[in-house]
Amino acid sequence: MDLNGNAVTWLGHGTWLWTTSQGKRILVDPFLANNPTCPDDLKDPGPVDAVLVTHGHIDHIADLAAFVGDSGTPVFASWEVGAHLIGQGVAEVTQMGLGGTIETAGIRATMVFAAHGGGIGAPDNTMLEGGGAAGFMLHFPDGLVVYQAGDTDVFGDMALLAEIHRPDVAVLPIGDLFTMGPERAVHAVRLLGVTKVLCGHWGTFPGLTGTPEALQALVPAGVEVPSLSPGDSFGT
Ligand SMILES: [Zn+2]
Repeated sequence: MDLNGNAVTWLGHGTWLWTTSQGKRILVDPFLANNPTCPDDLKDPGPVDAVLVTHGHIDHIADLAAFVGDSGTPVFASWEVGAHLIGQGVAEVTQMGLGGTIETAGIRATMVFAAHGGGIGAPDNTMLEGGGAAGFMLHFPDGLVVYQAGDTDVFGDMALLAEIHRPDVAVLPIGDLFTMGPERAVHAVRLLGVTKVLCGHWGTFPGLTGTPEALQALVPAGVEVPSLSPGDSFGT
């Protein structure tokens, strides 16, 4: 899959590590040591230049505080999730909201809507207010635009996001149960107008039954939905 000189590695579940054509590393939703499908050699992916957080569910932030700690690595999250992370001792948090755009590690990232819950699970099993779930539109310096959807169902305003951002690649959750499955993700592909799709949030737990192969069988000819396993990389 040609990614204009950028590359991405799937760390399993909803965790993705981008390496830009300028050598910057951007981690989305750190679920590492506690992620049952993250390969052992990637549970500590090493220093990164930025961390983006889509929402506060435990399968997206469980390892964030331990991974980032007081390193000073910039972390970007919603107001509510950001406040939670600051409380966990994460040193460099930028809080933002839907429609907001930040620049970090040579990319521009706009936080966009996702149709998903946003509560934050606390260790004692209570639930903290986590604001709304989000995705990100990532604009890379060489023109590549990636829609990192986070956890979501399909929604009609994906067409509006496509009109505004013109994504080349969509990183979609397809596991079903907590997000859309392949039968609904095919509509997301149509609304987004993308021809390159990377599939996450599947295969981690027994209920997450969607597969890239199932989505590939549903999309029109010319749309690329590669099979992948945790640890696989795409791009250069
Ligand atoms: Zn999730």
